Formats: sequence, structure tokens, C-alpha cells
Amino acid sequence: MSEIIFLNKVFISGQEAAYMQQAIEGSKTGGVLSGDGSFTHQVSRFLEKRLNAHKVLLTHSCTAALEMAAILADIQPGDEVIMPSYTFVSTANAFVLRGGVPVFIDVKPDSLNMDESLIEAAITDKTKAIVPVHYAGAPCEMDTIMEIAAQYGLLVIEDAAQGIYSTYKGRALGTIGDFGCFSFHETKNIVCGEGGALLINREEFAARAEIVREKGTDRSAFMRGDAKKYTWQDVGSSYLPSDMSAAFLLAQLEKGEEITQQRRKAWELYDQRFRGSNHIQVPSYGPETVINGHIYFGLLHEASERKAFIDEMRRGGVQTLSHYVPLHSSPAGSRYCRVSGSMEHTESCAARLVRFPMFCGVESSVDMIADLALKILSNSTPSTHAESGQLTV
Ligand SMILES: *Cc1c(COP(=O)(O)O)cnc(C)c1O
Repeated sequence: MSEIIFLNKVFISGQEAAYMQQAIEGSKTGGVLSGDGSFTHQVSRFLEKRLNAHKVLLTHSCTAALEMAAILADIQPGDEVIMPSYTFVSTANAFVLRGGVPVFIDVKPDSLNMDESLIEAAITDKTKAIVPVHYAGAPCEMDTIMEIAAQYGLLVIEDAAQGIYSTYKGRALGTIGDFGCFSFHETKNIVCGEGGALLINREEFAARAEIVREKGTDRSAFMRGDAKKYTWQDVGSSYLPSDMSAAFLLAQLEKGEEITQQRRKAWELYDQRFRGSNHIQVPSYGPETVINGHIYFGLLHEASERKAFIDEMRRGGVQTLSHYVPLHSSPAGSRYCRVSGSMEHTESCAARLVRFPMFCGVESSVDMIADLALKILSNSTPSTHAESGQLTV
């Protein structure tokens, strides 16, 4: 039996070590290994240009970028922030840390993105922001979200952790809201181990963002020569990545188009095999969407099928996995957050979702994976569920 095909595999461009070596050599001749060295600068300018973004600040994680956004949005105790429950903990935690209250709305079963038609009913006079999460790297309905935000005077913080190089109506995810947050964690498309970025899409937040990121000091202005010394100005923390991480990241970004194309190709191959199958429901996105192939997922008909499916795939040499446990049903989620309306799709989809292996190079295995999955699913008929259900009573 050949090796197991895991869900994820890090792409290595080959230039990472050389750039990290350059960062090390540079530090011997006046360069810095800490934050905001020359690689950090190069990556920030690279991303601003590639994404057509106003300002990109590298951080050590998307979690850090979300925390910065919550500070910049001036979230105060009791302020409400509308987001999906179907997301990673950091989306909610960043606001809870400031005393904010995440208010969860349901997702749409075709994309698992927030259902924008539910936003208005969740707005109260405490609402401060909307946080769309671009699940699987596929865009939320940003035009509607931005219109509602403008109408009610709310900020929009995109959790684009999975969304690098996806576009919505020609615009890069992360550049559409007031703030955008990216992750370069090793499970994402473009990586540096742990890393992230905060996109500041409105100039009025730029100066404060630099201060918040530098432990609440004006050190960034000082380093540029704009201030004589630096002092404590505001709340903040240490959100900068080391220049070593940025060196690694530059090597990845130089192959960013290749990475994205390969993943998109794998996504399409899966989709050709699964779309139209009556055993699994596949995602569907709007026509003006270009996705980055971050995740390929499918929804099984019954939650009760999933464990056996994952186990059988594993026996066949393929790792498949579920994803988020909805935050509203988690211990901290029920303590710190509130639900607006029904969580029907969130609960149903979260219990039926499986993710298939997705990484550069998986293309050649997609047929084998799809054959195996479809064979398992065609053997798991609804009548056997009914029987096993009765046996457990
Ligand atoms: C990965 C992820 C995060 C967290 O990213 P880190 O860089 O690990 O902090 C946040 N939100 C979503 C939706 C993610 O997928």
C-alpha cells in the first residue's frame, strides 16, 4: 500500500533558505532580524502592488491581524460584531478580548459563507462591525455587505485568512472592507509557518495601525526618521513578525501565481468528478468569483454517514476531515457570544461537511480520490442508516 495522501502538504519554492540566509548575513552588516527589516518591507510592497491594496502591515498571524482590527475599530465592552458561527475561533476571540460580543448569523449551504440577507435583522444600536469570513477562500457577497455597513455606519473587517488571491468582481479579497486579515499559517495557500497581514484599506486608520502594531509606540515613525524618539502613545501589542518569516514568505509569494493555479486546477478536477453526483453536495459560487482553491469540500446527505466515510477513506489511503465545530455550540462561544436567528444551515452543514486533500501536486491523485469517495458513498445507502439507527435504540 502506498503512502497516505494527507489533507495538506506545504509547498516549498526552493528559495526560502537562500532568502533566510540573506536576512542572517544582512543582520551582520546593519540589517535587522526583528520586525520591519528589509524582507518585511519587500513583502509589504509586493502585496500592496499585487493586490492593489492601500496599506499592508505584516503580522505574526491572522489572529494578530484580527486583534489589531478590533483595536482599530475601537471595540468597547458590550459592542456587537456580526459574524458567522461557522469559523475559526480567532474571528470571535479577537473581539471578545476587547469585551465585544460576537453575534452569530447563519450561513448559506452553497458556500458556508454568512447569509447577507440575515445581517439587518441582527443589527442593534450596539452593533459596531460586520466580519465576513471568506470560507474556503470563496468570497462573501461583499457588495450587499458594504451597502448595509454604509447604511448603518458599521465597519467591515474581512477575515480573508483563507482568501489570498481570490477575487470578487475583480477585486482582491481583503481589500474590499475597511480592514482585511490574511493568514500565512502553514495550512494556508502561501505560508511562512506562522504569519499574517492586516490590510488597511482606509488611510484614516494607517497611522494608528502602525502604533498598535509596535506595542503602542511610535517606533515606526522613529525608524523612518519622522520622530526624534519613540514613546508610549496608545494601547497596542507586539504584532510584528520576524524578518526571517518575511524572508521565507517572499520566496513563497514569488511562486504565488503558480501555487494558486495548481490549487485551482485541483479544485476544478474535484468539481468535475463530484458535481452532478447525487451522493455528495458540492459548493457553488457566484459568476463573478475567482477562487484560490484553498479548500475543496462536499456535504454528505446525512451527518451519520460521516464517521464511516472518513474512516473508509483513510483505509483507502486518503485523509479527509470535517472542519469547524460551530462557535455558538462551543463552551466559550456560548459564554461570550449571542445567536441571531436560526443556526439551521450552520449546524446541518457543519455536521455533514468533509474536506478533501488539497495542495500543489494533488492534481494527479484527484481521480483516485474521487473514485474511492464515490464508491464508498454509493455503498452507504439511506436504508442502512435507518437500520443502524434502530439497532442503537
Ligand atoms: C487560519 C484562520 C485564522 C487564523 O489564522 P492564524 O494565522 O493561524 O492566526 C483565522 N480565521 C480563519 C477563517 C482561518 O482559516
